[in-house]
Amino acid sequence: MTFATLGLIEPLLRALETLGYQTPTPVQAQAIPAVLAGRDLMAAAQTGTGKTAGFAVPLLQLLTMEGPKVAANSARALILCPTRELAEQVHASVAEYAQNLPLTTYAVYGGVSINPQMMKLRKGVDILVATPGRLIDLFRQNALKLNQLQTLVLDEADRMLDLGFSEELANIYRMLPKKRQTLLFSATFSDDIRQLAGQMLNDPLSIEVSPRNVAANTVKQWVVPVDKKRKPELFVHLMRKGRWKQVLVFAKTRNGVDALVDKLQGLGINADGIHGDKPQATRQRALDRFKSSDVQILVATDVAARGLDIEDLPLVVNFDLPIVAEDYIHRIGRTGRAGNTGEAISLVCADEVNMLSAIEMLTRQTLARHMEQDFEPEHRVPDTDASGQVVKKPKKPKKPKSSGGGGKRNLGKWVDSGEVAPAEPSIKPVRKVPVFNTGPRKKK
Ligand code: AMP
Repeated sequence: MTFATLGLIEPLLRALETLGYQTPTPVQAQAIPAVLAGRDLMAAAQTGTGKTAGFAVPLLQLLTMEGPKVAANSARALILCPTRELAEQVHASVAEYAQNLPLTTYAVYGGVSINPQMMKLRKGVDILVATPGRLIDLFRQNALKLNQLQTLVLDEADRMLDLGFSEELANIYRMLPKKRQTLLFSATFSDDIRQLAGQMLNDPLSIEVSPRNVAANTVKQWVVPVDKKRKPELFVHLMRKGRWKQVLVFAKTRNGVDALVDKLQGLGINADGIHGDKPQATRQRALDRFKSSDVQILVATDVAARGLDIEDLPLVVNFDLPIVAEDYIHRIGRTGRAGNTGEAISLVCADEVNMLSAIEMLTRQTLARHMEQDFEPEHRVPDTDASGQVVKKPKKPKKPKSSGGGGKRNLGKWVDSGEVAPAEPSIKPVRKVPVFNTGPRKKK
């Protein structure tokens, strides 16, 4: 199959050729014809498998071929993203795909001055990429009207529909025309979100090009059990031992990010951090410098978990496990993209066993454990598997110390290996979802 056989017009084919896209990825092969046919979509595909082009390319074609010229202070298509960095990245991709078309594109997000954005919107833009908060501000200040909107895309749709964004999304829905095309794209969809999403769509086509909620199979994953207080030391040890060149590290909290960055920088390691408390320009600069390999270690909260495309990133480290199991899939999906291989290592302490269990259950695999010599935890991480069982072994009575010395012994490397047969999840997904009334939908 080629992009030409999917019915794309020549200016788009030329742009894709310039970008070196030779054949459509599976999600593109299914999504492009469906979007061109005007269908509503719910599309699930693994991280890094070309979802952006899957919605943006056919959208550009529809906007070129159909509909009126964009009016002042209006947008004809809206792509909503959960983070500013992702909005910036998606917009950069859209602009590349649109390079030979007479369409205008723009991205708006918070943390930067609103005035230039208001100015830019005066003439209207064909495709607007936005984070929800800033979009609402612009709408309320009459800088943006949405009555011309033909298509709404929710990128990282399950994140956009969960509790954190529910109020903003409900507000945005009230601003949109009822008659429109709606496209939802994500690597993860919980059952609750699928149900909610189903209510928002009109006769949707569901595309699933891989089993649900799995990480790209190009990512080799394992876990290193360790005591919580020794995580920084273990990280530095592994980094030196493995001669890590470029690593994206996820920590749970903003303070956790700052503390690890300080520690690494104190050791003369080229590290930077990114989290929601930092000014937007600092965030974007840290990310850009990491992408261009000017920064070796980027430590981030889950603000960097979704969608970011860092070319050839070899390694993701979970310094802490994510609270929400789905975020694990997105975090490790920053590596192993576009068919490349990658590695994801999680440093797991006894406190995190329930999170580990939830991740294994969601992804239907038991993660291999690798005990690192001299870092064996005093607080044992109980055994887990994909069934959601946490096996707490009774404590062994202490042996009397022998006089023959010997000390701690390394138990060898792989203490639990490989993937096990898929098991059906037995508990509910971790993330709760909101229920908001999307109102009756008019038939198109
Ligand atoms: P995405 O999942 O949209 O972030 O895309 C992941 C990466 O794959 C990006 O670097 C894209 O530029 C690249 N990509 C997307 N589609 C194709 C394709 N058909 N051929 C080659 N590379 C692609």
